[in-house]
Amino acid sequence: MTEEKMRFEAEVSRLLDIVVHSLYSNKDIFLRELISNASDACDKLRYEAIANPDLLAGDADFKVRLLTDDVRNVLTIADNGIGMNKEDLIDNLGTIANSGTAKFLDAVAKSDAPKDVDLIGQFGVGFYSAFMVAGKVDVVSKKAGEDQAWKWSSDGKGEYTIAEAEMEGHGTQITLHLTDEYKEFTDEHRLKHIVKTYSDHIGIPVVLMKGDGDETLNEASALWTRPKSEITEEQYKEFYKHNSHAFDDPWKTIHYRAEGAIEYTGLLYLPTMRPFDLYEPQRKGHLKLYVRKVFITEGADDLLPPWLRFVSGVVDSQDLPLNVSREMLQHNPVLTKIKNGLTKKILSELETAAKKDAEGFETFWENFGAVVKEGLYEDASNRDRILKIAKFRSTKDDGWTTLADYVARMKDGQKAIYYISGEDIEALKRSPQLEGFAAKGIEVLLLTDPVDEFWLPSVGQFDEKDFKSVTRGGADLNDVKADDKDDANKDDKKDDAASDASLDALIASIKIALGDGIKDVRESDRLTSSACCLIADETGMDLRMERLMKQHNR
Ligand code: ADP
Ligand code: MG
Repeated sequence: MTEEKMRFEAEVSRLLDIVVHSLYSNKDIFLRELISNASDACDKLRYEAIANPDLLAGDADFKVRLLTDDVRNVLTIADNGIGMNKEDLIDNLGTIANSGTAKFLDAVAKSDAPKDVDLIGQFGVGFYSAFMVAGKVDVVSKKAGEDQAWKWSSDGKGEYTIAEAEMEGHGTQITLHLTDEYKEFTDEHRLKHIVKTYSDHIGIPVVLMKGDGDETLNEASALWTRPKSEITEEQYKEFYKHNSHAFDDPWKTIHYRAEGAIEYTGLLYLPTMRPFDLYEPQRKGHLKLYVRKVFITEGADDLLPPWLRFVSGVVDSQDLPLNVSREMLQHNPVLTKIKNGLTKKILSELETAAKKDAEGFETFWENFGAVVKEGLYEDASNRDRILKIAKFRSTKDDGWTTLADYVARMKDGQKAIYYISGEDIEALKRSPQLEGFAAKGIEVLLLTDPVDEFWLPSVGQFDEKDFKSVTRGGADLNDVKADDKDDANKDDKKDDAASDASLDALIASIKIALGDGIKDVRESDRLTSSACCLIADETGMDLRMERLMKQHNR
C-alpha cells in the first residue's frame, strides 16, 4: 500500500502553530468542532440521498459515535455522514477554504499579543483544533457512493500523509492520539459534560460507546423544534456559533412559529459584529432552509432579501415537498411567502429595538445600517418601514437622529430635508456649503454611505418633504426665517447691497475666466465666511455622485 506525503498549505501550518502553541485554557472546544463537522456531514448526506437514496446504503440512522481507549490514550469521533474521498481530504484538511479561519489568522496577525489566548475562544478553528490535544490525528473516510476508503494522517507539523484504507460503510472516523497531558479526554464524565455544554443542540444523537451499553449524551432533537421555554440562552448561543460559523454572540435571537396559510418555524439571529465579508458579492448568507428537519440548502437568495443578508439561522417549513431540489426553490410561491413573513418579523423586531433599546439599535445601525438602506430602493414594499427606523448623523450634534425627529426640528418656512454627502463626517462638517445653513440654524443630514446616493433619488421624500442636497443649486434658504441670533448677519447684508454693482462685475469676469468649465456663477446666501463654493446643478448630479461616477470611469 503506497503512502503519499504532502505538505500543508503555508496558511495551515501557520494556523496549526498558533493552535498548538497558544496557551488557550479551554481545550474542550475541539470536541465541539469535530461533532459539528460530523453533524454537517450527516446533513449533507441526508440531502444528497433525497435525489439518490442508494447513497445511504441502507444506513439512514445518522449518528456521531465517541469511542475511548484509556490504555492507548485514544479518542475516536465517528460519523456515518457524507465522507470524503482522497481529493476532498486534500482540499478540506490540507488547505484553508473556510473564510472564518482566514479571518482568525488576520485577527491574530493584527493582535498585539501574537498568540492571543482569547482569540481562539472567539474564533472556532474547526478541524485543526484537534491538534490542541492530540500529537497525531488519523482520519479514515469513505465517501458515500464510492468504494475506496482513505486514511489521512498527520502530527500537525507541516506534513500529512494519505494512503488507501479499509472501512465498512461510509462516513468519517477521526482518531485522536491524545498527548499525555490530555488523557482526561478519554474520561466518560468529562466527555458527557463537554457534549452537554457545547453540542446539546445537535440534531442527531451523539453516542458514547461503552462496553455495558451505549449512552446518548445530547438531547438529539433539532433545537428549533423544541419549545422556547426549554431552551437556555447558552444553547441558543452555541447553536448560533455552530449554525452561522459566527464568533460573536447574537444581538437578537428570534424564535417563532408562523401559523396560518403557510406554516414554518424560524430561528433567526441578528449578529453583534459585522461579518468581514458583508459586502463581497459572492458571499453566501447563513440562513439554512430545512423541510421537516431535513437540511435542504443554505443562503438561498429566495429566502431573505439581500438587505437582510446579515441575518442567519434556520427556517423549517412544513409546506414544501421533501424532495424539493435547490433548483425548484427559485421563484417558488411558498418560499416567497416565507420570505415576506421573515422580512416582516425581522422588521418588527428592529422597530421594537429602535423604540426600547436605542443604544443597542444604534450599535446595530452602525454595523448594518448601510446594508439595511439597500432595502430603501430594492424593496419598495418595506421602504416606509425602513425609512422610519433609519438613523442619520446630522449637524445638530454627534448623535444619531431619525427623519421624524429631524422634521420635528425643521425651521418655520423650511420645506426640504437638507443633506450633504461625502466620505467622511468630519470633512463634511467643514464644508463651506454648510455655512449659510448653520447661520440660519438649519440642520443638515451628513451622509457617508455610498448607498445613500442610490436610495435618495428613488425615495425622494419623507413626510412629504423633499430631500435636497446642499450642494445643489436649488437649495435656497430665502424662505427660511433666520434665528434671532443671526440678526447681525442681516445687517451685513444691507451693507452688501451697496456693492451690488461691483459684485456683478466680479461675477462677469469669473464667468469669462472659467468659460465652459462651469455652468453658472451666482451670488448666494449659503456662505457666511468662505468666499465661494462649488455647487451642483439643480437638475444635474449631486457633487458626490459625480465624484463616485468619475471613480468608476463612467
Ligand atoms: P468548517 O466546518 O467551518 O468548514 P472545518 O475546519 O471544521 O471547517 O472543516 C473543514 C472541512 O472539512 C469541512 O468544511 C468539511 O468539508 C470537511 N470535513 C471535516 N470534518 C468532516 C467529516 N466528519 N465528514 C465530512 N467532511 C468533513
Ligand atoms: Mg467545522
